[in-house]
Amino acid sequence: MELTTLLARMKLDYLEAGLDSLCEQAAARDMDYKTFLSTALATEWQGRHQRGIQARLRQARLPWIKTVDQFDFDFQPSIDRRQVRELAGLGFVERAGNVVILGPPGVGKTHLAVALGVKAVEAGYSVLFLTLESLMSRLTRARAENRLERALQQLTYPKLLILDEIGYLPLTREDASLFFRLLVRRYERASLIVTSNKGFIDWGEIFGDHVLATAILDRLLHHASTLNIKGDSFRLKEKRRAGLLGRATPSAPPASQELHDPSARQLDPLSQLDRPADTGHSH
Ligand code: ADP
Ligand code: MG
Repeated sequence: MELTTLLARMKLDYLEAGLDSLCEQAAARDMDYKTFLSTALATEWQGRHQRGIQARLRQARLPWIKTVDQFDFDFQPSIDRRQVRELAGLGFVERAGNVVILGPPGVGKTHLAVALGVKAVEAGYSVLFLTLESLMSRLTRARAENRLERALQQLTYPKLLILDEIGYLPLTREDASLFFRLLVRRYERASLIVTSNKGFIDWGEIFGDHVLATAILDRLLHHASTLNIKGDSFRLKEKRRAGLLGRATPSAPPASQELHDPSARQLDPLSQLDRPADTGHSH
């Protein structure tokens, strides 16, 4: 059988693509048989490994890609970089533990959650990123269409589920109990990373029920690391540097904004300036 036929039948696509240069290399370096074979197989394995990462990255539906290396820890001294490095080692995913990232808007909560998600993808874990809002609409739609059980099952599958932006929208009690059911399913089986702009004390309000909120926190925090970020918005820093904002003296947002956004009073007063530029960000 011809070599190219063999390679095709065995689906060694990367080896087939790299064959000519591999043979040139082998001749130039005068490789022995074993080195040649292992170099050839490594070419195939590398290709497959990269393809796996790309596939899992697509499935993860991350909003954008950011890495831990791209995070400027000097700008956010309230973050213990050793703790982040430890988390990046993914022991928590192995142990089915959780990570809770708290802090005001713009301090890098989503960035760190995404960065840990990328690490997990690279390490071979299945990851899924959802905002709490999209999670809830997925679950409520599934319930309305009588397929809640399957939807919950699907959400139990990813080894790491990232739930972004808990607290921006309050949930009804019904929604909160759906959320609780998901948490119970995943508890001690698979990991969660959640981000929130609200401290735990306000979670009763978010979930519309203090008993439920306590039960949710109980499951979530049993095996969890918490990153509590207390600092300035990175987005604003960039804008200030670009000269789009004046000096950093926070002024209260116009009252009308508070009417549209019931959570506005909880937010960093500068966050109202902060938000609109989000879409313009190039990630
Ligand atoms: P949050 O989710 O807390 O509102 P984001 O993670 O969306 O904030 O961060 C806003 C933007 O600023 C993103 O583009 C993010 O990559 C960037 N960013 C935030 N903090 C840092 C940091 N310390 N170093 C580098 N980039 C940062
Ligand atoms: Mg965010």
